[in-house]
Amino acid sequence: MKTLQEIIDDSRKIVFFGGAGVSTESGIPDFRSEDGLYRQKYTVSPETMLSKDWFFSHTEEFFRFYRDKMLPLWAEPNAAHKKLAELEKKGKLLAVVTQNIDGLHQKAGSKKVFELHGSVHRNTCLKCGNKYTAEEIAAEKGVPHCGCGGLIKPDVVLYGELLDEDTVQGAVDAIAEADTLIVAGTSLTVYPAAGFVNYFNGKYLVLINRDPTPLDSQCDLVLHGKVGEILSEIKV
Ligand code: NAD
Repeated sequence: MKTLQEIIDDSRKIVFFGGAGVSTESGIPDFRSEDGLYRQKYTVSPETMLSKDWFFSHTEEFFRFYRDKMLPLWAEPNAAHKKLAELEKKGKLLAVVTQNIDGLHQKAGSKKVFELHGSVHRNTCLKCGNKYTAEEIAAEKGVPHCGCGGLIKPDVVLYGELLDEDTVQGAVDAIAEADTLIVAGTSLTVYPAAGFVNYFNGKYLVLINRDPTPLDSQCDLVLHGKVGEILSEIKV
């Protein structure tokens, strides 16, 4: 913890790269932990249910799963989200790059957030382009349709879809400019997102994760623990 504080004190351009583990302390399960979605009993895997093919071929089942597991509108930012917003406000953090789709970084006050996998808070009619909020999707029953009759799709990147080009460019530029990269709450197994840490060329590479990851051996500092608990102890 002392080393982490020293690194943060010595940094001016921190970038935070996070995954589902950043939101588990807000009560949202991740995918691959012991109590994650992959260990819960479903007849089809979450990876299949969150694929583009499944969205179009099993639209009703998709929305049942999506509303049940991917739309945590009740969730509040935890200590990790809040500390990152504080670091940005103090001018020490360039950006948050997240694989999460829950919008909790923005809810905590973060401004520069690159959402690699999109957001549940943006939803678009595939026919006329009309926009809908997450609350509207949650409130509807069954498959959500626009007034024009078109199917509404959440702007989340499903398995089998490409990442948004501008978001990727923004995230890569921020990571390449960072003096410190904090990677946290991610198993680093979902590509291409996991490969983004390779653009880091700064001074300190820090990893905060509950379980070991493939990046541990390359880091300047590795902390195995809860990211909210750890970041809450940092003085800005
Ligand atoms: P993952 O489930 O593959 O891995 C999560 C990692 O976080 C694990 O290694 C686990 O040890 C660690 N972890 C869990 N809780 C932690 C905590 N409190 N502190 C520190 N580490 C913790 O998640 P991933 O690598 O992000 O990949 C899963 C994909 O599914 C991503 O695209 C992700 O965004 C998406 N997803 C998003 C949400 C969300 O938006 N909240 C939830 C589930 C999955």
